Amino acid sequence: MIPLEEAQARVLAACRPKASAAVALDDALGLVLAEAVVAADNVPPFANSAMDGFAVRAGDLADASAARPARLRVIGTIAAGAPGLIPVGDGQAVRIMTGAPFPPGADAVAIVETTRTEGDDVLVSEPVVAGAHIRPVGEDLAAGQEVFPAGVALGAGHLGVLASAGRDPVPVVPSPVVGVLSTGDELVEGSGPLQPGQIRDSNRRTLLGLLRRDGFRAVDLGIARDDEGDIRRRLEEGAQRCDAILTSGGVSMGDFDFVKKVLDDLAAMAWMQIAIRPAKPFAFGAIGDVPIFGLPGNPVSSMVSYELLARPGLRRMAGHPDQALHRPLIPAVADDGSLRRRADGRTNYTRVLAAVGPDGRYHVRTAGGQASNLLWPMAVADALAVVPPGPGVEAGGEASILLLHP
Ligand code: AMP
Ligand code: MG
Repeated sequence: MIPLEEAQARVLAACRPKASAAVALDDALGLVLAEAVVAADNVPPFANSAMDGFAVRAGDLADASAARPARLRVIGTIAAGAPGLIPVGDGQAVRIMTGAPFPPGADAVAIVETTRTEGDDVLVSEPVVAGAHIRPVGEDLAAGQEVFPAGVALGAGHLGVLASAGRDPVPVVPSPVVGVLSTGDELVEGSGPLQPGQIRDSNRRTLLGLLRRDGFRAVDLGIARDDEGDIRRRLEEGAQRCDAILTSGGVSMGDFDFVKKVLDDLAAMAWMQIAIRPAKPFAFGAIGDVPIFGLPGNPVSSMVSYELLARPGLRRMAGHPDQALHRPLIPAVADDGSLRRRADGRTNYTRVLAAVGPDGRYHVRTAGGQASNLLWPMAVADALAVVPPGPGVEAGGEASILLLHP
């Protein structure tokens, strides 16, 4: 058996970020910037008012008070979207709305709450300091300034900032296209009646779902029979269409594992036994430059293998930086005895329910049966508790967890 870190290092060494492309902001959510982006324009593009009120000269209001308000002549109005070229002179004011361009000559905004109008005049009952309630040009971003560096994953707020800075399209790493192939003569599609010996294919649904959840473009490559020709044809076709392929099944010690033979021929696979439970067997290789992840067939194992091995590799292909490839380890308290274990030299990834307790810490308890064929507890689990070799963790003890749905 090899340590998980060794298997992960092999995967990451073979997964290269895809070439950068210009993508419309509308399609860029979740993608990673391939290069630093600089602002095309100042944000805001012009000095403007932060409040509704009157653009004034602060000096005119130096002695203003509720008892003796300053009287200014209102010479115009500037709404948001107007050009705003109404020069303000001594004793004058311009009515101005939030976001409207700030007029020349004025140097502050008297907010509407401190004013009262009287015919063509406005009476202001408080002094203002010069610059009050003015948003200067370029306060947020100056034209030519770096907006975000390469490697930033674009969230909704990032898209808004890039839009405001006039950067659309943006240079990103396109999301990898990832094929999913199930293997096995026992597998059938759909909800029709089962013949003796048959089971319904669950891994493909799960893996396609995980890929989509993680922002990859998932391609269904179907079910390959335990037949060399069928497996070969589907893998070759998949390698044409996809940037990476996930297979499930046929990587353990069974007798009819034609997957092994074909993968060896096509993809020069490395067959690994990883010191983890579940998901010990794992195979990895490449058809040309298309990485092939040979995940185990047992449903829980295929999901855990995806989380620990495929997801980091695919995230690297999607341009995520090294420190953002793996899920963070978070401390948690074991509320039951489910993290006690037998000593078999393998790190356990125990499926647990996790919730923040009144003490502000995560608390975990078992999500159900821990055999690698029992998908239900994995489906409802919030986290995997990482329990290293040894006696495990007593109730009340501390463990590290990987949150599956952060
Ligand atoms: P294998 O590694 O092909 O021997 O498969 C190990 C176990 O996982 C067997 O019980 C298979 O029936 C099961 N299995 C393999 N592929 C799938 C799948 N796509 N969906 C559900 N179970 C599967
Ligand atoms: Mg099989």
